[in-house]
Amino acid sequence: MPEAGVAAKGLGRAVIFLGPPGAGKGTQAKQIAESYGAPHISTGDMFRDHVSRGTPLGLRAKAIMERGELVPDDLVLSMVEERISREDCRHGFILDGFPRTLPQAQRLEEILGRCKVQPLVVHFVVDANQLMRRLTGRRTCAIGGEIYNIYDHPPKVPGRCDRDGGNLVQRPDDREEVIAERLAAYQRQTSPLVDYYRGRGVLRDVDGMAAPATVTKDVLEVLAQKQ
Ligand code: AMP
Repeated sequence: MPEAGVAAKGLGRAVIFLGPPGAGKGTQAKQIAESYGAPHISTGDMFRDHVSRGTPLGLRAKAIMERGELVPDDLVLSMVEERISREDCRHGFILDGFPRTLPQAQRLEEILGRCKVQPLVVHFVVDANQLMRRLTGRRTCAIGGEIYNIYDHPPKVPGRCDRDGGNLVQRPDDREEVIAERLAAYQRQTSPLVDYYRGRGVLRDVDGMAAPATVTKDVLEVLAQKQ
């Protein structure tokens, strides 16, 4: 990340959205990044882009993602390090789906420490029973990436995005058998990060079960607080 001016304007921080798959991180990150004009860095979206372009990284990640497992740390880290070193990250950014393991969090801490930036972690707290419903119901616009849920937030016309009319598609890893593995991977590898960041005093809990507009308001309040 560039050394100078990181905290000067905009979001001014490295913001991490932490929570299990289906917690609403992507939906919220997209909106909040737009409202701040800050980059929304979703490692899942980056991998899906590599998969669809058939890059060497995409070819390695595809089978792992389809099983609902985590991509190895070294692959994730080099991709993220390159992304956050770009100019548009100078005034802060939102990380969605990264870090997901302790080694990823430790490496991020080193990178941010070099530019004297403390991360702010927004932890989306959700009831585990709700996650399956949210994930099996999720549909994403193939054009603009808008996220819907066929049960709780359906589009006006089934299968079509309200914003741009794009086709709504289901992610291959949102099938029930893969979801179970993704939730297990979260418990095993990612949930220890809650204590890791809480212990550092940089984590704020947000009720991810509230209505999406309420969650957005709560996250914006957290971001507006001085640390
Ligand atoms: P997501 O869209 O965040 O649910 O990510 C989709 C999939 O991409 C995950 O199930 C993993 O296989 C992979 N992935 C995304 N981010 C990471 C990460 N930080 N570490 C390891 N694997 C990741």
